[in-house]
Amino acid sequence: MTRREEIETNLAAVRGRIERACTAAGRDADEVTLVVVTKFHPVTDLAHLVDLGVTDIGENRDQEAGAKIAELDPVTRAALTVHFIGQLQTNKARNVAAYADCVQSVDRPRLVGALDRAVANRAGAAGGEATLDVLLQVDLGEGEDAGRGGILPADVSTLADQVAETEHLRLKGLMAVAPLGLDEAGTTAAFGRLADLSAHVREAHPGATTLSAGMSGDLELAVSAGATHLRVGTAILGSRPVQR
Ligand SMILES: *Cc1c(COP(=O)(O)O)cnc(C)c1O
Repeated sequence: MTRREEIETNLAAVRGRIERACTAAGRDADEVTLVVVTKFHPVTDLAHLVDLGVTDIGENRDQEAGAKIAELDPVTRAALTVHFIGQLQTNKARNVAAYADCVQSVDRPRLVGALDRAVANRAGAAGGEATLDVLLQVDLGEGEDAGRGGILPADVSTLADQVAETEHLRLKGLMAVAPLGLDEAGTTAAFGRLADLSAHVREAHPGATTLSAGMSGDLELAVSAGATHLRVGTAILGSRPVQR
């Protein structure tokens, strides 16, 4: 099997899982966007994905993402929405704002300021207006899940207001990773808390309709909790080299 065929087969299987999960949840599959997580995989895979109809990809490390996006030919780049989904250091905000269409991992006030200034600089350089879509990453592990990142649920409203007050950032919604080590009931409960929080944020910010949750192992649970964006890597591109 060629790499393209392998990706095509895996993609069809994941799309089937999403359709069945939507049917089971009484949802329309069109409501759910598949973000293929391409971290650690070569730029040639991105071209295959675009060829196979993928519109959204996710990357989690600035250096790798920046290099890969820069290598894409303009037609392939234009066909893609690029999501940054990794923990982001404030001093990398400027890099990421230059190639990402959406930053899903905003989790603290300083990062909001840094991203807004980065987009403002970009706008100045282009002599026009520029905006960046952002999601707030929520820590569903009640602070005990160090390393997965995110802001505590109690602090989400304040951060949402702060994003909404910026000139260049557009608050699109929330993102979360299910805490490690939960069984199905625990994951369902965690996604349920995320959905409740999303409803609460939308009372003040009606445009914040995105709910990014669900990965290769738990996408069905995320769909039933109302996820609008799934971030799927392994199930489509295979296992990654061990994370450094
Ligand atoms: C790597 C990653 C994913 C994809 O995980 P898989 O289990 O490979 O599907 C999703 N979300 C985030 C934030 C990630 O870093």
